[in-house]
Amino acid sequence: MIPSDPLHQRLARRAEALFPEVQRLRRDLHQHPELSNQEERTARLLADYLCGLGLTVRDGVAGHGVVADLFCSQPGPTVAWRADMDALPIAEPPDKPWSSRTPGVMHACGHDLHMAIALGAARLLQDFQAELAGRIRFIFQPAEEGLPPGQVGGAELMVREGVLTDPPVAAIFGLHVAPMLTVGQIGFCPDIVMAGADRLRLTIHGRQAHAATPHHGVDAIVIAAQILTLLQAVISQGKDARSPAVLTFGTIAGGSRFNILADRVVLEGTLRHHEAKVRTSILAKVHQLLEGLSAATGARAELTSEALYPVLRNDPDLGRQALEILGRHFSPRALVPMRPVMGSEDFAFFAQEVPAFYFFLGTRGPGVESQTLHSPDFDPDEGALTVGLTAAALLLAGLSQAASQSDYLA
Ligand SMILES: [Zn+2]
Ligand SMILES: [Zn+2]
Repeated sequence: MIPSDPLHQRLARRAEALFPEVQRLRRDLHQHPELSNQEERTARLLADYLCGLGLTVRDGVAGHGVVADLFCSQPGPTVAWRADMDALPIAEPPDKPWSSRTPGVMHACGHDLHMAIALGAARLLQDFQAELAGRIRFIFQPAEEGLPPGQVGGAELMVREGVLTDPPVAAIFGLHVAPMLTVGQIGFCPDIVMAGADRLRLTIHGRQAHAATPHHGVDAIVIAAQILTLLQAVISQGKDARSPAVLTFGTIAGGSRFNILADRVVLEGTLRHHEAKVRTSILAKVHQLLEGLSAATGARAELTSEALYPVLRNDPDLGRQALEILGRHFSPRALVPMRPVMGSEDFAFFAQEVPAFYFFLGTRGPGVESQTLHSPDFDPDEGALTVGLTAAALLLAGLSQAASQSDYLA
């Protein structure tokens, strides 16, 4: 017999009761972080736990990825939840019982919380499957932080390996911890969430000569300085100011000796944008500018751009439905509208295939001034686990219920 309390209330109560379990999982994962495409132990822990729950589990997807399906009682579509698995090459101070036991590696981006929340959601929704429809797919994705040179993997490979098509996934959710929000807050963007990103490599070929006679050569360093200034003008004036873009060079290297004109300077950087057409037009303008400068100076400038991530966009209809579902439990003050950011996330590969809703989970505890991700100081308040688990359970169950009652996702 199904209890008479509304489902969302029972889900939220169960999420609270599961806190010790989810905290244990989070701390276990936190103690044993693994770098991108090396998530072997992590994958084993996930697969063992999910098999233990009785889900249908597939491992070895796109490297160490794990996909687990929960079959609900009534027929309906497949709704997915994604959690990323990898950690970062950062040394964590050993000041907590659950600090990293792997020297130089740390879950400093909160993917340990993401996985623990997803495992908790699998356990929680398993108990409610008699009231739900369709299939709930948990996608654990390796290598979100970027691929080691020469390797393949991450969300793009998971998509290629069919995690969204076998069977067709009707909607996908994901979250990221956010130290700029306090515990209890959920941040969301209605449309664009995160930027598309390119990796750029700019090589300037000059000609060596004695430093005292620069007129006999082509000074690649002087030309690099000019190019850097001109490229920032492309960002400030070469595109519609209403659509943001960032062009940052993080490395510059060139020259061999103080009294020799540099014949080569190499710069590496990134271009971020919120619209694919802005990316195309900026790159075209940069190429044009480099051609002109090459002709004027006798240097040769080459730019290669590698598209890393597309723009991450939420589906507006799914987003509206997600907010309505979250609003059944969370107060309007807890649901915080946010502006899109210039950071990137490979969840975008899932979101460009099927309707997606990606949101931010506050992790800043009371009295904590500021914290950033990708830092050894990142120490999220574990109260966020319950908030994240409640949100995950509400969204997956809410959509599943909607599917059994209407043809929204048919
Ligand atoms: Zn990260
Ligand atoms: Zn991350």
